[in-house]
Amino acid sequence: CGIVGVVGRGPAAASIVDALRRLEYRGYDSAGIATLENGRLTRRRAVGKIENLEATLARRPLGGAIGIGHTRWATHGRPTERNAHPHVVGGVAVVHNGIIENHHELRVELKERGARFRTDTDTEVIAHLVAQELHNGLAPVEAVRATLPRLKGAYALAFLFEGHDNLIVGARKGSPLAVGYGKSEMYLGSDALALASLTDVISYLEDGDVTVIKSDGVEFLDREGHNLSRAQGAIATDA
Ligand code: GLU
Repeated sequence: CGIVGVVGRGPAAASIVDALRRLEYRGYDSAGIATLENGRLTRRRAVGKIENLEATLARRPLGGAIGIGHTRWATHGRPTERNAHPHVVGGVAVVHNGIIENHHELRVELKERGARFRTDTDTEVIAHLVAQELHNGLAPVEAVRATLPRLKGAYALAFLFEGHDNLIVGARKGSPLAVGYGKSEMYLGSDALALASLTDVISYLEDGDVTVIKSDGVEFLDREGHNLSRAQGAIATDA
C-alpha cells in the first residue's frame, strides 16, 4: 500500500521507518524493510503496526545507507510475515503496490522453469522474473526493463540489488510513485507525504516510467530505455 526508498550516506533504516509512519493513514496489515549492508541484502518484516517492525529492528538492527520499505494491504495471500514485502529472490529485493493480474500464469511458467515460490503473493513472480534476467546476464536496470512488459495489472515498484549499494530502480504503471531530492541523498516514495519527512522537492513518475536512483542523481527512462525529463516541484505544505 505504501513504498519508500532511500539511497544515501546515513543509516537508511531509520529514515525509511519514519517515512512508513507517514503512510500509516492509508491503512496496512504488515510492513517490511530491506537494506544493503556491505553489499548484502538483509530484511526485517512484521505483521501489524509499524511499531512491531520497529521492535523487530530494535532487537535485530539493519545497517546500510540504502534500503526500501513497504506497508502492505494484502490483495493476494494472507497478511502474514512470510507474505510481507520486500520479497527477495536471487539477489534482488522488491516492494510492490498494486495487483499483478496475470500472476497465476507467470507462476506456472516460472515453476516449470524451476522457480521455487516461498509466498502466496502476486508480487513474488516479479522478483523471480527479474532474478532470472539477472541470471541470464542482464544488468539490474535492463533486467527490470525486460520484466515490465510481462506484467499485466497495476504497479508501483522499487528494487534493490545485491552488490549494488548505490542503486534503486523504480517503475510505475497505474499506481503513483515519486522521486525525492536530498543533499547527497535521493528518495523514492508512493506519494508526496511519504517523502515529506525527507525532502520538499519531488518529481512524479508518469505511467510507463522507469527511474534509476543513485545518491547523487536520478534518471527517468521510457519503455524503450530512452532518457526522459520529469519536472521538479515543491511538495505543497498545506497537504
Ligand atoms: N498485491 C500485493 C500483495 O498483496 C501488494 C499489495 C499492496 O499494494 O500493498 O502483496
